[in-house]
Amino acid sequence: MILYQLQCELDHQFEAWFKDSQAFDKQAKRNLLSCPSCGSEKISKALMAPRIGKSVSTRPVPSSKNTTSTLDIKTTQEATELKKKLQELQKHITEKCDYVGNNFAEEARKIHYGEVTPHGIYGEATSEDTKELVEEGIEFNSIPWVRKENA
Ligand SMILES: [Zn+2]
Repeated sequence: MILYQLQCELDHQFEAWFKDSQAFDKQAKRNLLSCPSCGSEKISKALMAPRIGKSVSTRPVPSSKNTTSTLDIKTTQEATELKKKLQELQKHITEKCDYVGNNFAEEARKIHYGEVTPHGIYGEATSEDTKELVEEGIEFNSIPWVRKENA
C-alpha cells in the first residue's frame, strides 16, 4: 500500500491509499478519484513542498479535516516568515534611524522643509498625523511594528 498526498484543481489537499503506484495512475486516468472537499475529478499528486511541514498528520482516512489542518499550518508558517521579515526590517530601522517617539510628524516636517539635516527617523504617528503628512507630500512608510516579547 502507498499513501499519496493528492490535490484537486482548486488546490484542496487530501490523502489516499493505493495498492501500488499503477493503481493510482489507473484510477486517476478513469476519473475514479474525486476531491472530498469539492468533488472535482481533476486530481493529481501533490508536490511534497516544504510548506506542508512535517507536522501534518498522515492519517490514512481522506477527509476534509486534512485540508483544514494543512491550510492552518501554511498560514502559521507564512505569518512566522512575515514576522521574521518585519523584525529584520525593524532591526535595520532601529540601527540606522533616530527614534523620535511621538514627534514623528514634527520631525518629518523639519526634514522635509530643510530645517534640519536630512536623516532617517522613526517613531509613532497618529492617523491624523499621517493624513496631514500625506497631504503635504511628505514621504514616509508605515510598517506594522512587532513588539519584542519582553518589552
Ligand atoms: Zn477540491
